Amino acid sequence: MSKILIIEDEQAIAELEKDYLEMNGFEIIVCNDGLSGEETALRENIDLIVLDLMLPEVDGYEVCRKVREVKDIPIIMVSAKKEDLDKIYGLGMGADDYMTKPFSPSELVARVKAHMARYSRLVAAKKSDNGDVIEIKSLRIDKTARRVFVGGVEKQFTTKEFDLLVFLAQHPDKVFTKQELFKEIWGLESVGDITTVTVHIKKIREKMEEDPSTPRFIETIWGVGYRFKT
Ligand code: CA
Repeated sequence: MSKILIIEDEQAIAELEKDYLEMNGFEIIVCNDGLSGEETALRENIDLIVLDLMLPEVDGYEVCRKVREVKDIPIIMVSAKKEDLDKIYGLGMGADDYMTKPFSPSELVARVKAHMARYSRLVAAKKSDNGDVIEIKSLRIDKTARRVFVGGVEKQFTTKEFDLLVFLAQHPDKVFTKQELFKEIWGLESVGDITTVTVHIKKIREKMEEDPSTPRFIETIWGVGYRFKT
């Protein structure tokens, strides 16, 4: 059963959303503040989040940003003010949809179903891709679940760090320039410059390497770029 997390501080609204979604066969977890919502989103195996913007402790912007760093599940943001949602959209926070309160519960159910269906297709497409799991030395990457283990210990990566690591690990022993990596991972959404690549490689190493100054996995080819060592 698909599990939905509702993060909403207004009890009556949370209950209404919960009832309608449960009637439609979803399992629901409700959190009434941003902090517990964020923790639950990161800890539990959640399939979709209905996220209120104005919340105690940690607001919806922050929750969205934190969750997006590690998960690509659909996030539907709700707010009482349309202007706030326009702002979120403008900020490119990574929410998948926006709804202005008050909305009809059936509208919410319809949108939840649409996003679930889209996300399932996305996951299915990733699964049909050959080689879901990459194993090189003590590194194990589960591409479908987007999880990384080094020596059996799970390491947390942001979306871009993960994409960069997977790209390099999928092309072992091949040298890529920073420009090539930047184009491959950031593509059209790219803003800023190629030093972003250097920064991300540094962060990946800090998470994977016992001694980041003598990397076992991603090697620096001076004056050229990087290579994943086998
Ligand atoms: Ca609120």
